Amino acid sequence: MRRLTCFFLALLLLLSLAACGQAPDQTPSQPVEGQTEPEAPEAPAEPESEPEPYIISDPTVMPKGGVRDGVTYVPWDGIVEHLFFHPVVAYPELAFDGDNQANGIDDYMVTVDEYNKILQSVYDKGYILVDINDVWRETTGEDGQPKMVRNTLYLPEGKKPLILSFDDTNYYPYMLSNGFAYKLVLGDDGRIASWGRDPAGNEVISRDLDAIPILDKFVEEHPDFSPFGAKGCLSLTGYEGILGYRTQTDTKSWSAEQEANRQKEREAVKPIIAELKRTGWTFGSHTWGHIRLGSKSLAEIQADTQRWNDEVASLVGPTTILFYPHGERPDGGDWQQTGPAFQYLQSQGFRVFCSVGIESFSYIKKDICAVICDRLHPDGTTLRYSRQRYLQFYDAKDIMDVDVRPQREIKWD
Ligand SMILES: [Zn+2]
Repeated sequence: MRRLTCFFLALLLLLSLAACGQAPDQTPSQPVEGQTEPEAPEAPAEPESEPEPYIISDPTVMPKGGVRDGVTYVPWDGIVEHLFFHPVVAYPELAFDGDNQANGIDDYMVTVDEYNKILQSVYDKGYILVDINDVWRETTGEDGQPKMVRNTLYLPEGKKPLILSFDDTNYYPYMLSNGFAYKLVLGDDGRIASWGRDPAGNEVISRDLDAIPILDKFVEEHPDFSPFGAKGCLSLTGYEGILGYRTQTDTKSWSAEQEANRQKEREAVKPIIAELKRTGWTFGSHTWGHIRLGSKSLAEIQADTQRWNDEVASLVGPTTILFYPHGERPDGGDWQQTGPAFQYLQSQGFRVFCSVGIESFSYIKKDICAVICDRLHPDGTTLRYSRQRYLQFYDAKDIMDVDVRPQREIKWD
């Protein structure tokens, strides 16, 4: 029976791929680690066989069923969907001005307008936000070894769980001239806002121009979108600082003055981190240097991890979540194996290892205490080419800002 199910799943997968033609998700990626360019496409990571059934565990992190404040909570044993975004485009006229960044931004980002419509659509379709840290937990198996299990999520009846994550929320310097917010700040009201410049060069502090305050506002207006207080997980590199603050070291040239400035930036970002944490945001590692975990040596991965700990974890705190740069899995990309790089990263405290793919796949590993998962990616490539696959969340036809984006191919069959 299980084999048969597996066969039909594979058949369905093939049919859905064929239906979409050449999936843009499979464009070869270009390494840009340590560079100030939009991230290269994240490699597809299709599960090659049927994922194991979810383990429904007891006890829970959510309210245990029953009625609370007139809402009935019921256990959820389906897929926990996971969408991820990059920083969103505040000023399309700067992002899509035909320079050599424009197509990359078109591929991997959405505009503020598109992001607003996506949030509204997933909300209308019954999704509610859950914290990635609440979906699985570590426990001790019957053999005495640590292992991960899935928590039972008790959700308001009729609702579906959704994890959001946000990659590269570092506000890299190239973003300032390309229509993105430049850093997070606290507004006059003490809440998270973004700072940037409009196309005329005027400074703008706003809660409407960046993915993070926009989601904060959306939840303020629709509290039932986040019944447990979750927002999203921010996936941070370290090589150009975090959240728009230049907290990184530079090993090539370093003066006392630069170090003094770095310490100032570290102090300045602390209240931003505290407010983000207070309002439901969590943090994960995207490696320090946005490195390709599939091709770096173990020594390089160890040095990078140490640097992330020194420069990023020292500010945001420890995390168990690792988001693979470029979606590239370590040790040759075989998710069923547990190679030396994976073992090392797990030994450093990571438990949930997130790639990018064509479904919200997840798998609890049997041989080591870890979960691997894939995320879906609302962006220009999937808006253009993967409308069908995202219909459960939104219809690209209703979302895409066709007029402001580069005039490139769209396939909405
Ligand atoms: Zn990235």
